[in-house]
Amino acid sequence: MSRIIVRSFLGLFLIFVPALQALDSSEVQEYRLRFYHTHTGERLDIVYRRGDSYLPEALAELDNFLRDHRTGTVHHFDPHLFDLLHELTASVHDVGGEIDVVCGYRTPWSNEFLRHRSAHTGVAQHSLHMEAEAIDIRLPGIPTATVRDAALKLGRGGVGYYRSSDFVHVDVGRVRRW
Ligand SMILES: [Zn+2]
Repeated sequence: MSRIIVRSFLGLFLIFVPALQALDSSEVQEYRLRFYHTHTGERLDIVYRRGDSYLPEALAELDNFLRDHRTGTVHHFDPHLFDLLHELTASVHDVGGEIDVVCGYRTPWSNEFLRHRSAHTGVAQHSLHMEAEAIDIRLPGIPTATVRDAALKLGRGGVGYYRSSDFVHVDVGRVRRW
């Protein structure tokens, strides 16, 4: 190959590679969430979606992280719930802030256990926790009533406010509130 051809190849390479890198890092949005699980004491910092693509390995990690902490049972979560959490933290200007998890997936056994533990737990018989479509959370440093109002404003599913236990339930079921 003549030196001129080599040089023009090199020139093209120098132009295109940085352009592709720029496309990679700035134009594809990364969706990241950080969690602390109040029952297991575990933490998770994870990018679960790039652009329109959910990342299967990240979703599997999330499923495991949000397992039923009483039985250890893992269930596949609806990833739209993670989009809801991403949007919720953004709407209260807490992007990248840690989300305290009070409850993720619940087996039917755990759900019954909670329902019968006391008369006023507010645990539904057909809870969406059993479908892995719901999560109970608080956002450290943000009043739980503020989180509730922000979740209601999103209008993306059910929102439950548990004032005495200080957490908010969000799910990707029908839009409703309690
Ligand atoms: Zn709940």
